[in-house]
Amino acid sequence: MTVDDIDTLAVLGAGTMGHGIAEVAALSGYDVRLRDINEELVQDGYDQIDWSLEKMADREYITEAEADAARGRIEPVVPVEDAVTGADVVIEAVPEDIDIKEDVYREVDEYAPEHAIYATNTSSLSITDLSELTERPGQFCGMHFFNPPVRMDLVEVIRGAHTDDETLETIEALAEALGKTPVRVRKDSPGFIVNRILIPMLNEAAWLVENDVGTIEEVDATATENLGLPMGAFELSDQIGNDVTLHILEYLQSIVGDAYDPAPLLEAAVNEERLGRKTDEGFYDYDDGGADYEDADTRAEVEHRLLAVMANETATLLDNDVATPDAIDQAMGLGAGFPDGPVALSEDVGLEALVETLDAAHEETGAERYVAAEYLRTAADSGGFDA
Ligand code: NAD
Repeated sequence: MTVDDIDTLAVLGAGTMGHGIAEVAALSGYDVRLRDINEELVQDGYDQIDWSLEKMADREYITEAEADAARGRIEPVVPVEDAVTGADVVIEAVPEDIDIKEDVYREVDEYAPEHAIYATNTSSLSITDLSELTERPGQFCGMHFFNPPVRMDLVEVIRGAHTDDETLETIEALAEALGKTPVRVRKDSPGFIVNRILIPMLNEAAWLVENDVGTIEEVDATATENLGLPMGAFELSDQIGNDVTLHILEYLQSIVGDAYDPAPLLEAAVNEERLGRKTDEGFYDYDDGGADYEDADTRAEVEHRLLAVMANETATLLDNDVATPDAIDQAMGLGAGFPDGPVALSEDVGLEALVETLDAAHEETGAERYVAAEYLRTAADSGGFDA
């Protein structure tokens, strides 16, 4: 099946991601069946789409007629049979729980047409494992939208071990037809690209404060001024939700190892329910002006440590052929707002200097997260990631 054969999408789950994906698809002219487990939940998702379309029309991003047409293309449904019968692509956005997803796929397999592709929006589960829960592992891939789907341009399209080329190409073309930029993740790898690089950097920010290398404000001033990031690391974790940051770290730690050991500072924020913007307090107090680090000093050591941790993750992704250097920088630009991606930033500072930073931090702390990847050492010796 090519993208031109796609008319109807089934979006399973009308929560945070599902309703956003359904809205994007309807705005792009697709017929969408939006499914949740009861009338109330599916209506709730539909109401949020309705509200969002109204706001877009008010702000003149779209016309009233376009908003109405999009509304008319979305059919809220409860029975799985009604959602997937006749669907060309099934996008699964149900809770991040393998048992729930297994039940969903078992039911979907009963009713989906043979040609339909299954795409999962999972943030962390293995694409290969999920594909094996279905009767069509070849017609299965990851389609990882970012929150909120209406505003975020990036879609990581992930190949599982069984995904066939046609499926991957069709889903990439579908992402483009939805007005998004697909970035190919060539192998099923924990955290894919953006979370795998960004979240350890946020953890490192917390370790730097924990180890008195800088204050929260100094780390954030360095991240924005020296690395050019759109916001400070702590400010960003507050925005993502410190519980979400911690959850992804714990997941990476359980799958990959202790290099993802969460900093106590982050754990304390979560234990004390300082989750970030959503609780009005995180590393900053949002009832009292929020992030404020403009006057703080920047520190070269902080810059090098944040960058060294990202360069190490980048090296691991490149070594495992998960993505190309360009794809990594593009994904970090679109998914995390980096003006320059980790490849460009670290080559600018010099990979050799970053290896030295990691070695020195490892000698000082003994922590596994500072063990430099062999690929990084080799790239440093040969003059860069692209060399
Ligand atoms: P959510 O909890 O907001 O929504 C999930 C919805 O699925 C709920 O409305 C729930 O009632 C519904 N549901 C439960 N069982 C179902 C079933 N059998 N059939 C249909 N719907 C069912 O969750 P979310 O944040 O939208 O996350 C959904 C998926 O997207 C997860 O895999 C998550 O990892 C991923 N994801 C989330 C984000 C994010 O920022 N929230 C970003 C990218 C990817």
